[in-house]
Order: sequence, then structure tokens, then C-alpha cells
Amino acid sequence: MTDAPTLPRFADAAPRGLCTDCGVSRMTNPAACGQACQFIKPDYPGTEARVHGRAAGQTDDEGFFGVYQAMYRARMTPPAAGAQWTGITTGLAADLLRRGVVDAVLAMVPDATDSWAPRPAILTTPDQMQHARGMRMGYAPLLALLEPAAAAGHRRIAVIGIPCQIYALRKLEADLGFERIYVIGTPCSDNTTTANFHGFLARLTDAPETVTYLEFRADYHVELRFADGNRRLIPFLQLPLSDLPGDFFPLTCRTCVDYTNRLADITVGYMAGMGDQWLIVRNDRGAEMLAALGDRIALAPVDSRGKRAGPVKGFIANTRLAAGGLPLRRMPDWLRPIMGWLMPKMGPKGLEFARARVEMKAAEAILHLRREEPAKMKNMIPGHVWRIAAPYGLTPEAGERHDDAG
Ligand SMILES: Cc1cc2nc3c(=O)[nH]c(=O)nc-3n(C[C@H](O)[C@H](O)[C@H](O)COP(=O)(O)OP(=O)(O)OC[C@H]3O[C@@H](n4cnc5c(N)ncnc54)[C@H](O)[C@@H]3O)c2cc1C
Ligand code: SF4
Ligand code: SF4
Repeated sequence: MTDAPTLPRFADAAPRGLCTDCGVSRMTNPAACGQACQFIKPDYPGTEARVHGRAAGQTDDEGFFGVYQAMYRARMTPPAAGAQWTGITTGLAADLLRRGVVDAVLAMVPDATDSWAPRPAILTTPDQMQHARGMRMGYAPLLALLEPAAAAGHRRIAVIGIPCQIYALRKLEADLGFERIYVIGTPCSDNTTTANFHGFLARLTDAPETVTYLEFRADYHVELRFADGNRRLIPFLQLPLSDLPGDFFPLTCRTCVDYTNRLADITVGYMAGMGDQWLIVRNDRGAEMLAALGDRIALAPVDSRGKRAGPVKGFIANTRLAAGGLPLRRMPDWLRPIMGWLMPKMGPKGLEFARARVEMKAAEAILHLRREEPAKMKNMIPGHVWRIAAPYGLTPEAGERHDDAG
């Protein structure tokens, strides 16, 4: 068996409006987008009920983060070299392959010509999973791997994906013919094209080609790592964001309604991790994957500190004021005091930080759609987003909400 992941070639993407090229439009039946797409009329309660056995609660933390059995701070012991955090995501998938629970994993590896660009790959050995470690910036057609994986004879698979990919996977999975699909999700926010991301890197450093790692951390810093082993922490306040073009972040990612990957079996992020990773175990399959890691993973309870209402209100007020797109990044004048307030000692931490980010993203989705695609609001904004934004006075206006929005 080869040590290199398989990199299938795909059909071209079909032209679509709001689209992150999750791969469905490149499959045999591109019309399946109509049924699968997060950006048309998503049904979270119904899909949660099918996947997790019940819809998310509305009044507790499930209202923010989706259905869960347990949440943890977590780290792999030892951390995996080259991982974005400590390698829980690829570690869970490698363990499924090691135990023979799945035959193949569908995930992203770095493109051979641009290591920041994601390239969909089929990985069939635990060792191959090391190629998938680390975060890439941009979109790539993960779900277009499903047909080649089935054609290669894989019956039980794992899929690692971001929320818009996992939504489409869940809508199609019953018709795909696989015996079993394990779903490992990460949260996702502020994605953009790989080309745009290179422009951002070039604003951060004179030698963007030497940057090997970037992360927006929960302590209000961006961490950069360089090929020579150096590291740099940049406070959010000092990011050169005000001169980014207005379309730097596509409308899809400014209006995305699922930050925490509500339909994954297990979500692996960092927002409530207070320096560690953050696990949301959503169902029995997620619990089974986590338990199998045994003492290779250290778990601790999640914690919550500080108050989020002030910074979230500030964010929403300024999002309202912005003429179009990217208010957070285009208003350094207001960014400074708000982010200053948010700085480590006083700002929300742990679960409270995660709730704040989910609220900000819900507000962004409503305000950007209202400004740019108001006719789509009625179908695109699910009930959980309206509930998350309601305490800040963001409620549906006439024609903006379906009775069955969940
Ligand atoms: C664009 C983007 C934005 C994110 N934003 C947040 C955030 O706001 N808050 C948060 O808590 N977490 C966010 N994450 C997830 C976070 O960065 C880590 O990936 C996650 O915490 C897992 O770390 P790890 O060490 O376990 O991953 P690793 O073991 O290093 O594995 C990384 C996994 O990510 C997958 N991957 C990498 N790039 C992409 C991509 N472009 N598209 C799809 N899959 C990809 C790979 O297939 C791999 O399986 C984001 C991820 C991406 C890709
Ligand atoms: S994001 Fe996926 S499902 Fe939606 S239009 Fe694009 S390819 Fe189709
Ligand atoms: S922010 Fe949302 S729409 Fe954009 S890539 Fe991430 S999950 Fe997809």
C-alpha cells in the first residue's frame, strides 16, 4: 500500500450563486445541490433529529453550539507534529483507520504547488493522516471524493470537513450507498479564497512565502510560524485589516449559519479551549471515536469566564454602521476600543468567548444578508440563528422568516 494519499481529479464546478464549491456540483448529479446546499434552505432541527436523535435545545448552550452529549478541553499527548493545534482531528481519523473501523478517510491535504491551498484526498492508512495535518485557507471540493471513494470499493469511511461541507454530506448520505460514515467536523469562520489569503499574508510580513502556520487564537492574538522556526504573535488590534478589499470575505462566509459544525459526530475546535482544543461530542458515534483514543488524549472540563454582552453589542452596532462588508476589519477606530476591552484579562474566555463568537457570526449573517440578499433571508436563516441574535434586538422583519424556520 502506498504512503501517499490518493488525489482524484474532478469534473469542473457547475456555476452557482452562493457556493463554497463543497464538491456536490462536480458529482454525477450536480442538481443535487438543490437538496444539499446550506445556502438555499437549510433544515437544522430535522437533520439534527435524524443524525443525533433529537434537535438541539433552545435555551441552554445547545442553542449556541448545537446538540451535544459532552464538551471538553482537550489535547493530544504528545501533540502531533505539524498539526494545527495538537492533532485531535487527524488523530481521530488515524485511529479509525488503525482499528479497521473505516477503510478510507476523506480530508484535505496541502496542494503540491501551494501548501496553503486545500486539496481533497482519500487517505487509507494511519500514517497517511499526517499529510492532512494543519489548516489550509480556501475552498476545495471535498464531497467530490465520495464517488471515487465508492468506486474504489470503500464501504465504511470517515469524512473531515467544515460546516458547509458537512451540511451537504448529511443531506446526501442516505443515498450514497456507504455502510457507515463517521463525521469529524471543525468549526469554521472567515474563510476566503486561497488567493485572497495570500494577499492577507503579504500584509502581515515581508516574507509571506516563509509563513508555515497561521491561527486566530482565543487569546486575541494571531500566531504566525515561519519556515526557520521563528514565531510571531500579533495582537488583533495591530492587524493591517482596514485596507482589505470589501469582497475579501465572500458573502457565503459572511452569512454562514453554522459556526460550530452542528451536524458532525464530533466537533474539534479551539474557541472554548482556553489555550487547549475544544471538543463537542454530539452523539454516540462521536463518543465512540473519542473513547478509542484512550490515554493518547488528555481531557479536562470546559470553563467560562467574563461577560460577552458588551463586546457583542459593540460588534453589532458597528456591523450595522458599515456601508458594506467587513466592518470588523474596516473600522480600526472602533475596533481598537472594543478589542482593547476584549483583551485577555477582562474579555470573555472559554465558553463565554465561544458564545460571543457565535453571537457575532449570527448577527453578521443577518445584517449582511439583509443588506446584500434580503430576498434570501426567509429561506437561508434558520431558527437557531434568529434565537441567538434576538437578545441584541435583531429580529425578523416582514418577510424575513419562514414559519417553519425551526
Ligand atoms: C478556514 C478555517 C477556519 C477555521 N476557523 C475556526 C474558528 O473560528 N474557531 C475554531 O475553533 N476552529 C476553527 N477552525 C478549526 C481549527 O483551525 C483547527 O483545524 C481545529 O481546531 C483542528 O485542529 P487539529 O490540530 O485537531 O487539526 P489537525 O489534526 O491538524 O487537522 C486539520 C484538519 O483540518 C482539515 N482542513 C484543513 N484545512 C481545511 C480547509 N480549508 N477546508 C476543509 N478542511 C480543512 C484537514 O483535512 C485536517 O483533517 C477553522 C478551520 C478552517 C479550515
Ligand atoms: S456549496 Fe456545494 S451544495 Fe452548495 S451550491 Fe456549491 S457545490 Fe452545490
Ligand atoms: S465560514 Fe461557513 S460558508 Fe465559509 S467556508 Fe466556513 S463553513 Fe463554509
